[in-house]
Amino acid sequence: MVGSDWYNGIVEKITSLKDITDKKYHRWYKFDSLSSSARLDSLAAAAGRVDQFSPDCPQCTAFRDDINVLVGRTHDVNSNKELLRQFLDDVDKIVNKMTGHFKKEHKLVTEGLYKSFFAGAGVVIGMVITFVVVPYDAIWVIVGAAAGLAVGAILDARIKKEDRILYQQPSRRLSNTSWILLLLIVVAVLGVLIAAFFLRK
Ligand SMILES: [Zn+2]
Repeated sequence: MVGSDWYNGIVEKITSLKDITDKKYHRWYKFDSLSSSARLDSLAAAAGRVDQFSPDCPQCTAFRDDINVLVGRTHDVNSNKELLRQFLDDVDKIVNKMTGHFKKEHKLVTEGLYKSFFAGAGVVIGMVITFVVVPYDAIWVIVGAAAGLAVGAILDARIKKEDRILYQQPSRRLSNTSWILLLLIVVAVLGVLIAAFFLRK
């Protein structure tokens, strides 16, 4: 995506804010898990979407002003621990607000959403088949999960092609939804196996 002058200026400012906050934040808050630069990266990503939508959307045009004010707060970032924390909280708040707006009005979706949803639905359907149609055969849970993952992957690929992914997620780790999904499948398979063991007696 080729950004406007406004967007390029914002990215430049965010980059220099990142340099400052990275140093200060790590010195002041050693044990906080989500790093300040990841939070500012989200702001930059949201600014990109605002830039894209603002010609046709008054709300996105208003968000540009919020972002302008935020990136102008270099004093807060530089001065002390409390003001830096407040600044980053405000970044999160505005990013969340923009994210909600992008989902609702611009039909953007979280990456991997359909995959998680359909795999979950596949597990449930698999459990129903296991108990109702073919009693106690846990294989249907796995078949359901696999079929759901396949359907979800196709839909996810389509929204990616349509450029409707909210923000790109870092790919080196599994997202929270993937972990929950994996846990759900494991619990479901175990549950079916245990139920089968006792019901067969
Ligand atoms: Zn908008």
